Amino acid sequence: MNTIPHLINGECHHDNHLLDVFNPATGEKCAQVTVADAATVDKAVAAAEAAFPAWRDTPPAKRARVMFRYLQLLEERADDICQLISREHGKTLEDARGELQRGMENVEYACGVPGLLKGDFTRNVGPDIDAWSDFQPLGVVAGITPFNFPAMVPLWMFPMAVACGNCFVLKPSEKDPGSSLLIAQLLEEAGLPKGVINVVQGGREAVDALLEHRGVKAVSFVGSTPVAEHIYARGTANGKRVQALGGAKNHAVLLPDADLDNAVNALMGAAYGSCGERCMAISVAVCVGDSVADALVEKLSSKIKALNIGPGTEYGHDMGPVISREHLDKIEGYLEDGVAAGASLVVDGREVSVPGYENGYFIGGCLFDRVTENMRIYREEIFGPVLCVVRVNSLEEAIAMVNAHEYGNGTCLFTRDGEAARLFGDQIEVGMVGINVPLPVPVSYHSFGGWKRSLFGDLAAYGPDAVRFYTRRKTITQKWPARASHQASDFTFPSL
Ligand code: NAD
Repeated sequence: MNTIPHLINGECHHDNHLLDVFNPATGEKCAQVTVADAATVDKAVAAAEAAFPAWRDTPPAKRARVMFRYLQLLEERADDICQLISREHGKTLEDARGELQRGMENVEYACGVPGLLKGDFTRNVGPDIDAWSDFQPLGVVAGITPFNFPAMVPLWMFPMAVACGNCFVLKPSEKDPGSSLLIAQLLEEAGLPKGVINVVQGGREAVDALLEHRGVKAVSFVGSTPVAEHIYARGTANGKRVQALGGAKNHAVLLPDADLDNAVNALMGAAYGSCGERCMAISVAVCVGDSVADALVEKLSSKIKALNIGPGTEYGHDMGPVISREHLDKIEGYLEDGVAAGASLVVDGREVSVPGYENGYFIGGCLFDRVTENMRIYREEIFGPVLCVVRVNSLEEAIAMVNAHEYGNGTCLFTRDGEAARLFGDQIEVGMVGINVPLPVPVSYHSFGGWKRSLFGDLAAYGPDAVRFYTRRKTITQKWPARASHQASDFTFPSL
């Protein structure tokens, strides 16, 4: 049985404490992962601290060259990475390839780091005085990542952090850590000096050790909202810079003039792709008017029943299993809860079975109609293939509903009306908005972040915000008076 190690100072390390990693399609154990305690975290941070001075002083253009080589290695090893993602996470190989591609786009962005780190310069801010601001790395920064994008979310973080001159300690999800480790190892293979990137495996104990460690200057977190809030509170109390991205409940609003067939196709992918285990998955469809809702429910129902469900490691399926038995039970609990609360369960995914994979964590697509705001299935993130249809009477009512929700990660509007789209874009209190685009995940040269309880902290993930998050501004004011000039003391505050 393969045991997934830590990566510390370029070497694999093992602790005695092990956790099982499961293949969600079979329900069988497929690996074990070693679990870090505070002493192991300390070793990783020490390795990163030791590597920092030389890496900080490496010219950005040389750091960028490592990123170019890294991009090539990720492409060459894409099949291995995607197999690992699919085996441990359950998502389809095609979806894993999409995840990796979106992750690699952040490496492409990091290749431009010499330009991104260019400072601001002003000549003659005073007599013989010039001033400039530049952006310097923080030191050792940590990343803590969720199970649902074991390659992409780490790639949101460490390429940019490292390209900016920091050293990094990654704590991947203990549920599917194989691909996270492999992509970190490939960065070393691309020429990164030992100790610049380190991986500690495990769960809460490792996370808490990172949050308490004086050597860690900043923490990037992506995961559920309760944990994000804990990370933000502990990390900032300990004087660290923290960005903590949390959960979501993403609404798609459908107006009567929407191209319904296109909207249905878009919603199928956005609600059921990756089994709904995406922080940008659409989990609520808000229909303006009963006729839109009736038509939507009818069209979706037949498509959901036709979903091709099977192990993600075999090509050609629409949906694989969910991550774990506990998560499957939790999703099924929500289905019971929704029915008990009076919602109409139009398609029940519990009826699905996958021959040959009876122990896998499979569930089919589920569709609830006539969901209302007070129901738990509406209020809480289910993180499964469950779409809730809510009926309202106007765009204004839909906007008010989205804005009242505690989460504000993503949303989208389906319409042909430019005026409605503009109003929606202006008034909606959500960080990432699509107009006829169901998963408005920003490209790598923008930044990714929700509002409200979907993001704690000031700066979003990747893109320009990442340059700011992983650096701090230093402003230098410099004077070179002519040798012959002598200046008297001046006791007034310096001004022109
Ligand atoms: P999670 O919060 O359970 O775990 C995330 C990370 O935190 C893991 O590395 C885990 O080991 C660690 N962790 C878990 N419990 C902890 C605790 N009590 N103390 C300290 N560390 C702890 O999340 P998950 O189940 O792995 O991922 C799914 C969640 O992530 C969903 O809520 C989803 O919406 C969210 N997510 C958000 C985004 C985003 O960009 N906003 C992106 C992807 C996933």
